[in-house]
Amino acid sequence: MPDIIHHILKTYFGYDSFRPQQEEIIRNVLAGNDTVVLMPTGGGKSLCFQIPAMALEGITLVVSPLIALMKDQVDAMIANGIPAVFINSSLSAREIFEIQEELQRGKIKLLYIAPERLALLDFQVFLKSLPISLIAVDEAHCISEWGHEFRPDYRNLQRCKQVLFPHVPIIALTATATLKVKEDIITQLHLQTPKVFLASFDRPNLFIRVKPKQQAFKEILLLLKKYTDEAVIIYCLSRKETETLAVALNKEGHKATAYHAGMSSDERKKAQDRFKKDQVSIIVATIAFGMGIDKPDVRLVIHYSLPKSIEGYYQEIGRAGRDGLASECVLFYTYGDTRTLEYFIGAMEDADEQRRARVKLQEIVDYCEAQGCRRNILLRYFGEVGEMQNCASCDTCTTTKETFDGTVIAQKILSAVIKTGQKFGAQHVISVLRGSKNQGVLSRGHDSLSVYGIVKDYDDSALRLFIKELASKGYLLKDEIDHNIFIFKVSAKGMDALKQRASIELTKPPVAMAKGKSSSSGKGSSTHSDNELFQELRALRRKIAEQRNVPPFVIFSDKSLLEMTEYLPQEREQFSKIFGVGAQKLEDFGHKFMEVIRQYAGKKL
Ligand code: ADP
Ligand code: ZN
Repeated sequence: MPDIIHHILKTYFGYDSFRPQQEEIIRNVLAGNDTVVLMPTGGGKSLCFQIPAMALEGITLVVSPLIALMKDQVDAMIANGIPAVFINSSLSAREIFEIQEELQRGKIKLLYIAPERLALLDFQVFLKSLPISLIAVDEAHCISEWGHEFRPDYRNLQRCKQVLFPHVPIIALTATATLKVKEDIITQLHLQTPKVFLASFDRPNLFIRVKPKQQAFKEILLLLKKYTDEAVIIYCLSRKETETLAVALNKEGHKATAYHAGMSSDERKKAQDRFKKDQVSIIVATIAFGMGIDKPDVRLVIHYSLPKSIEGYYQEIGRAGRDGLASECVLFYTYGDTRTLEYFIGAMEDADEQRRARVKLQEIVDYCEAQGCRRNILLRYFGEVGEMQNCASCDTCTTTKETFDGTVIAQKILSAVIKTGQKFGAQHVISVLRGSKNQGVLSRGHDSLSVYGIVKDYDDSALRLFIKELASKGYLLKDEIDHNIFIFKVSAKGMDALKQRASIELTKPPVAMAKGKSSSSGKGSSTHSDNELFQELRALRRKIAEQRNVPPFVIFSDKSLLEMTEYLPQEREQFSKIFGVGAQKLEDFGHKFMEVIRQYAGKKL
């Protein structure tokens, strides 16, 4: 007899093993302790309170900020045979009354509510009458003003420990891992000597790449070929851009829809619903899109424009591959996009806020222009060690770097640094070399220097890469003259190289590398759209989902369907071994899926 939590994992969720940390977290909760869970999106936070909910007597109260998500979560529980309900403002008074009666009859294991409900006195009295054995606070960073999604209603949660249920353990969960937010969660919720679990933020199933933004639309079409009918999110900077791009994609025969804050909430809900239900496969969105989406099978996330910060970028790409299957993230980078972002920053009123935004912008620019492993940079950003030699799932680790004789361009750069007086940052040197007519160049008379406009064959981004490489090779010295303001000087080694015309090897910039090559390759390129049985199983899944009015992933995940195509289970016993098949789903859907598999297997004989 396996122990109770493994038993629940298999019977209700159809999974064989826990993901990292889940088991320790669950045992800590079951021991009656307060718990804080910091885990990236897709890490498997929900199970950390859903399994205790089934193991404990009584009811687990789940506080969740998004009404739209609550229904999906409850539908997913029910499909697994777990009695769960939600109460929020989308229900009528009559419906709420009926649910309250059901709760009092003692059959329900999980009750989902929105935080505002805790402010209602009547509701508090009702809650007190229930045998609450655990409180789970999802998206717990919403309680902190330091987080990026502060929700004043979350402050109602202070009452849980103070007044309502002083002895009931709390588990708080979030994907925002900064120290300030974590401390805020602990104090605001009045957690008592909580155990904090910090999972790694690495997501090895995401293949990450940055590509120069050149003929980006063509590149997108090439990428989409690999992901026919699979879920794709494309992030843009402006509302207008989302609309133009969605129209262009539809013209090319794709099913795409725009999503941005300028649409009515009805239109947005409709777009999101169609995406969730696989009726449209591509959503072209501003960053307004995301919080409400827990679709596990997004295979590709594209950034058509530069994100504002690494934090935001990581959240956005985090929406790919929540089911753990290989997925791809592509950012189209051009330094020119910083001008648009700079414009937004200029419009901010608070000087401190402006400064923070500029630091963040610089960080994401550095990330895009980096030559080293991208995962290492991301992990270091989130406070982890990040020392992988070769992660095998980012562009820089998987492309061999070609070098070329860069003596000529290196000399031009070194001369320009000297001629401009060794007191400027990279951008000014680049502007001079490329013959820019911007104010900074003209007002200093730098348009009359001999190095003015002498570079014709490289763009800004390529020059930035060369300057970085010359610095890392010791020809240039980088000096911080003010907080986050850097200038370049030529080192003794650089001086020598100039005088002796020493030959200097440089890495070919990606622009040159990208020319004439097809857009993408490598791990993460797996696609299932060519698999006939997979398509049939998906169609069946969609049909059942429509009948039940739930999103398809509530029925089965892609991973479950893929295992079916691999093992071709045709009997109950075999079928129950498939990933994600618990007792309830075996009963409800087993025969329908096995029917399709039998027919397919018969045809192949
Ligand atoms: P989070 O809330 O951390 O973003 P979820 O709880 O939504 O993540 O889990 C992401 C996906 O991983 C879900 O589809 C979930 O069913 C799946 N999952 C969670 N734990 C496991 C596990 N132990 N084995 C297999 N799949 C799991
Ligand atoms: Zn790497």
